[in-house]
Amino acid sequence: MASAASSNSGFGLEGKTVVVLGVADRSSIAWGIAEAFFKHGARITIGYQQRFFSRIRLLLQEFPGVQGARCDVLDEQELSDFFARLEQDGIDVLVHAVAFGPPEVFTENPSEVSAEGFSQTLAISAHSLCKVARYAKPHLRDWASVITLTFQASERSVPMYGTMGIAKSALESIVRYLALELGKKRVRVNAVSPGPIETIAALGEALAFIRSPQALARQRGELFRSAIEAARRELGDKVPDEIALAQAVWKRVQTAFAAKSAIEETVTKEDVAACALFLGSDFSRKITGQVIHVDCGLSTALIM
Ligand code: NAD
Repeated sequence: MASAASSNSGFGLEGKTVVVLGVADRSSIAWGIAEAFFKHGARITIGYQQRFFSRIRLLLQEFPGVQGARCDVLDEQELSDFFARLEQDGIDVLVHAVAFGPPEVFTENPSEVSAEGFSQTLAISAHSLCKVARYAKPHLRDWASVITLTFQASERSVPMYGTMGIAKSALESIVRYLALELGKKRVRVNAVSPGPIETIAALGEALAFIRSPQALARQRGELFRSAIEAARRELGDKVPDEIALAQAVWKRVQTAFAAKSAIEETVTKEDVAACALFLGSDFSRKITGQVIHVDCGLSTALIM
């Protein structure tokens, strides 16, 4: 069982109040960030969707110092209750690691995605940062840091990321406009853009294509297609379930991305958490409105 965090950081995060939205389970990037701040002596409150509570309960039992509460970004009452609990302590760091799109936003080309699917994806994955900022604003301390999570498909059109890439473009623009708005209060707003990491959301994307061979066949780009074919060949009749197949696919996707990166390594949630520690610390006080890539140089290299 994890005991109260030891404070040894040098980041100056001891006693800081850190709020992390978007924990689904131990694999979540949000949890990687929460755990890192906890280990550096910060006081942590995580926000989660009720549908993940059975997994969250295990984390809260293991880390009794971490607080947790429901916070669905589409539910105004939950948002209001969640942020009301933080009134006394104030907020030094607010992490938004929230995204969702129905399978069609990945499997269909943007011109075919329904208005409902498009709106839902943009509402949860982009506009929710504005909403969360609205509820958090009264509690944000001087020099507080707001951090969101994006992906490089915001800047380039990436096959099979589809409308989620459009949502990430909107999210990054929101980062810049919120930085302007909250800069008056000396609050900074930045995004971290990681390379691929195996999480529930990531596996969901792979599953969408595993379940829809027609969608897979009409997409441009070989990466997912060859990863799925190779994983099927490798596992053959031994495939115990779709999740195992999605995990095998995802490992291949990570390896393929690493081969196209300046540093030929995969990115972990701990790598992302290290960047979040910096963005949450006073060392980054004058950095705002930025997107910081933690991707081994995937977004800057063009390896032919
Ligand atoms: P994850 O599945 O662990 O986290 C996604 C979270 O979004 C979940 O906790 C889920 O509960 C939450 N969420 C969805 N709808 C919500 C709603 N209505 N209200 C509140 N929360 C809601 O997956 P992750 O990969 O850790 O994703 C975290 C962030 O990192 C996302 O923004 C994702 O796009 C981004 N990201 C992930 C990767 C990757 O490869 N995993 C790469 C780049 C960026």
